[in-house]
Amino acid sequence: MSGHSLIDNAIFGVLVTSGDLSIPAVARSLEMPTSTANGIVQRLVEEGRIERESVVSAGATRRGRPAARYRPRLLKPVAACALDGSSLSVGLVDRDLSLVGRHDRRFRAREMGQVLELIVESFDEACAEAGMKRKQFAGLALSANVLTMAQGVVSSSVLPWIGVEAIQHCRSALGMEVRLLQHAHLIAAYQGIEPPRPRMMVRFNVGDGVSAHQLTGGRPHAGASGMAGELGHTIVDPDGPLCGCGRRGCLEALASGPAICRALIERATPAVMTRLDRAWLAATPPSQAFDAVYEAWLAGDGAVVSVMEKVLDDLARTLATALNMLDPDQVLASGYVLQNHPQWLDQLEQRMRRWVFQLDRRNLRLVPEHTDVEQVLRVAALLFSYPACFDAFTGRCP
Ligand SMILES: [Zn+2]
Repeated sequence: MSGHSLIDNAIFGVLVTSGDLSIPAVARSLEMPTSTANGIVQRLVEEGRIERESVVSAGATRRGRPAARYRPRLLKPVAACALDGSSLSVGLVDRDLSLVGRHDRRFRAREMGQVLELIVESFDEACAEAGMKRKQFAGLALSANVLTMAQGVVSSSVLPWIGVEAIQHCRSALGMEVRLLQHAHLIAAYQGIEPPRPRMMVRFNVGDGVSAHQLTGGRPHAGASGMAGELGHTIVDPDGPLCGCGRRGCLEALASGPAICRALIERATPAVMTRLDRAWLAATPPSQAFDAVYEAWLAGDGAVVSVMEKVLDDLARTLATALNMLDPDQVLASGYVLQNHPQWLDQLEQRMRRWVFQLDRRNLRLVPEHTDVEQVLRVAALLFSYPACFDAFTGRCP
């Protein structure tokens, strides 16, 4: 983190999530004196990382000077890709951080070659739509569901093929620099800089994987080896199904989106009168199936209710353990299993009551996360352009 402090990065974060801001607004967001914010912003302007826009309104300030606003800039356009186990979004981010092209897709690929091909195709389709060429970009910021540990080791239970080698393949497939970002930390950081900032936030994610990353004072907590937040690899049933991490009975192997779909396919025999078609479930990416699963649960479908009964219990009990340990003042619920499914959040809150210590003294609300994919892509492009910020979000120890 040579030369750039956490405060620099926080100011950057505020500028990115707000689009552009005045110095008093930056100071208010970060609860710091205006003079401190001014000093840091002026230095960042001199370094060319922030652009000053002179006048934004017809009026002038009380002192008769035009009001100045500031926004971060990239040195060159950057492409960003948000990659999960079954969906990806590629965004083209211009120098002024506007998104000039985007291409989304959902998939069921499990192998490196197939997924890299989809990334390249989506990049090229976004370029064609925007009338741009690959060579105009400084590179690709790849935000994925990974762990990046000390000594550059990369792993993921959701994307088992990913690793240093995969990034090298991606570089040669695209003919440009590719940098890997830890998706959970990126989103947690993006959420954490939105005011009002919680003192300690936990982001509970249930999608292709299960995790609970924490932010303390707006900063993602990576742990000593970059592996903090892996709640999904808590063993719930030692004789349970095999997990992507190689062990048996992890929460992720029982309660992630793909795990729930697998359980439903096994359970959904004609004898239990399920509303969900097994062939449809087997052919649909889990990230696309959950609105139908939720509808079937609301309608009281026997197979879905019985599968979700155990899933909700397992999730609630494991999350309660994390809350007992971390004592956050905000818990965000994210991931396609939980998002837009308010009654499952209510169920989790009710079930957690049995297991959380000193319940009445805590804020137990599960707040649905509102992730704006475009903002995530813009933050990823920004972190790509400024490696000093980038290192703070990759989960590596400084
Ligand atoms: Zn595991």
